[in-house]
Parts: sequence; structure tokens; C-alpha cells
Amino acid sequence: MDRFDLLIVGGGPIGIACGLEAQKKGLSYVIIEKGPIVNSLFNYPVNMQFFSSSERLEIDDIPFISNEAKPKRNESLEYYRRIVTSNKLKIHLFEKVETIEKGTEGFKVVTTKNTYTATSITIATGFYDLPNLLEVPGEKLPKVSHYYKDPHFYASQKLAVVGASNSAIDAALECWRKGAEVTLIIRGPEVGKRVKYWVRPDIMNRIEEGSIKAYYNTTVKEIREKEIELETPEGKIILENDFVLALTGYTPNFKFLESIGIELSKDEKRLPNYNPETMETNIKGIYLAGVICGGMETHKWFIENSRVHAKIIIENILRKKESEISN
Ligand SMILES: Cc1cc2nc3c(=O)[nH]c(=O)nc-3n(C[C@H](O)[C@H](O)[C@H](O)COP(=O)(O)OP(=O)(O)OC[C@H]3O[C@@H](n4cnc5c(N)ncnc54)[C@H](O)[C@@H]3O)c2cc1C
Repeated sequence: MDRFDLLIVGGGPIGIACGLEAQKKGLSYVIIEKGPIVNSLFNYPVNMQFFSSSERLEIDDIPFISNEAKPKRNESLEYYRRIVTSNKLKIHLFEKVETIEKGTEGFKVVTTKNTYTATSITIATGFYDLPNLLEVPGEKLPKVSHYYKDPHFYASQKLAVVGASNSAIDAALECWRKGAEVTLIIRGPEVGKRVKYWVRPDIMNRIEEGSIKAYYNTTVKEIREKEIELETPEGKIILENDFVLALTGYTPNFKFLESIGIELSKDEKRLPNYNPETMETNIKGIYLAGVICGGMETHKWFIENSRVHAKIIIENILRKKESEISN
């Protein structure tokens, strides 16, 4: 059985930042990642461009050089992968953490491949694994996807994009530019307020000129092989349809947090209970880092503003270690 000062769950940008900081400060640690390095970023759309400029995505001031001010997904894969490989970070890939229990000698962590013991745990599992479902008949048809990858796939096809946020709008524009016939289905009265300020005029112009058809205050009622049924303010309509991209956001894995004993607020935000000064949760020795800290507010924390979590957590672990030694 492997023993560590710190076991980090999730090898996204923030899990990697925690591993790098632990290594610098001489802690024994391991990062357990259920997919490849930065799995979420790997699964982002192939042509995706960050809204942050590259220096704001840097870890530990290691320069992130990109062609344009705002890097593309591929450049981010190069950057974070290079941090892992050139610093020889201890990361176990394609291994999923299944359970974490408090034992007499620390936490017992069971994964799909091994069992570990760790004095401290950092959970940096992000929010990209569980899509918010439409919960309508037909959602499980192969023509429906909750992840958007490549516009080429949708060329010359009738594509319905459900959602009004950055992901949905980027996908709608990109697919339309590659020859898809795009319909946007928006639950509220307008395109999302958080849509990037330089993208908003583009989508509004495409909608106004009729290149992309948008239905506002509209929900999907049913998805069938060759059509979709919508509930619009004017009543029910049926559209011919080849593919549906349901880009309605993602939810953190709350069941995993609860199984460990981490408390969540009772309101709709489901905020995990942690001390923002140390990032330690209600379970002593278990810390949270990255986007998972926001509960349902998945826009609250992102790489730019949560990379600092790494230093806060490692500092706290070191302080505890020192006080144990001096006692
Ligand atoms: C399209 C898009 C554009 C974005 N643009 C920006 C931007 O410009 N700037 C910015 O700052 N942020 C941006 N973000 C947000 C940013 O990508 C996330 O905030 C960031 O990935 C959070 O990092 P993280 O390490 O907390 O989580 P993640 O990157 O999601 O990493 C979590 C990791 O945990 C792994 N994992 C989950 N459960 C387990 C388990 N049980 N066992 C082992 N591993 C597990 C996952 O596989 C994943 O690799 C964007 C997000 C999207 C979707």
C-alpha cells in the first residue's frame, strides 16, 4: 500500500498546480487522474480559445507562450503537459478515485487500480463530468450529445443547439460557418449575459440576418430520429433535425463529495463547506481546490482565480506538519 503526505484527486490545471507546489515544498504526494493529463481541457472543443490571456492561466509563474494573447485548447494541452513531464510530477493517469475513508493512519483511498494511504487529501475534480440533462424523451438517442468537439461533423446537417451560454453560442457560430443549418433553442428571453463581449455582436448579427434561427423562451419537449418538438411561446412546433447539441452546462459530482462526508449547503447553490482561508473542508485534512469549490456556481471559480488554491493548501499542510513536529 502506498503512503503519501498528500493525495490529489484530479489532474486538471488546479490539481497539477497543487502537485507542483507539494513537490517544491518537499511533500510526498501523488495526483490521481481518471483520464489523460488535463482531461477536461482535452475534451473541450478542438478549436476552443480561452477567454483568459495566457499569462493568467500560468501555474507557478512558468511562462505560457501562445500565438495570440488568448491561447487555444491545443496550446493549453502543450503547456500543462509540459509542466507535468518536465517537472516529473507524480501523476497516475486513467485511474479513478472511488472512495475516501478516514482510517487510523490517515485517509484510505481506493481507486480503480490501487489502495493508498494519505495524511491529507485535495479534491480538485472540477465540474465537466456530469452534463445537465434536458430530461426529455429521446435524449439518449445517438444523435444527441452534451459535449461539442468538431464543427466538421455537422456540415450540411440540420443541427439544433440547446443553450445560451458561451459553449452553446461558440458551437452554433462555428457549425454554421462550416455549413450546418443551425437552430438555437434558448430557454430564457435572450442570449446569455456572460457570452464573451467580442462574440455577442457576431451571434446577434447572425440571428438578425436570419442565418441562424433562434427560438427564445423555448424548451425542447421531445427528440425523435428525424425531428424535434419544441414548446415555444406561440405553441408547439416540430422541426426537421439531424443532430442535437445540448450544451446546458455541467454539474460537479456532489455524490462523491457527500460520500466523503463533505457538507453541502441546503440551498440550490450546494456550496461545499470549506474555510476559504485554508481551503480545508469540514473534514479535517481534506481540502478543496479549483472549480469544485463553487458548488452549482460553476462560473465562480476558474483557472485564473483558483490557481492560488495550491499555495494556500500546501502552506496549511506544511504548517500542520511543523506544529506536529514541534509538539
Ligand atoms: C469551453 C470552456 C472555456 C473555458 N475558458 C476558460 C478561460 O479562458 N479561463 C479560465 O480561467 N477558465 C476557463 N474555463 C474554466 C476552466 O477550464 C475550469 O475552471 C478549469 O478546468 C478548472 O480546473 P480544475 O482543475 O478545477 O478542474 P478540471 O480541469 O475540470 O479538472 C478536474 C479533473 O478531475 C478529474 N476527475 C474527476 N473525478 C475524478 C475521480 N473520481 N478520480 C480521478 N480523477 C477525477 C477529471 O478527469 C479532470 O481531469 C473554461 C471552461 C470551458 C468549459
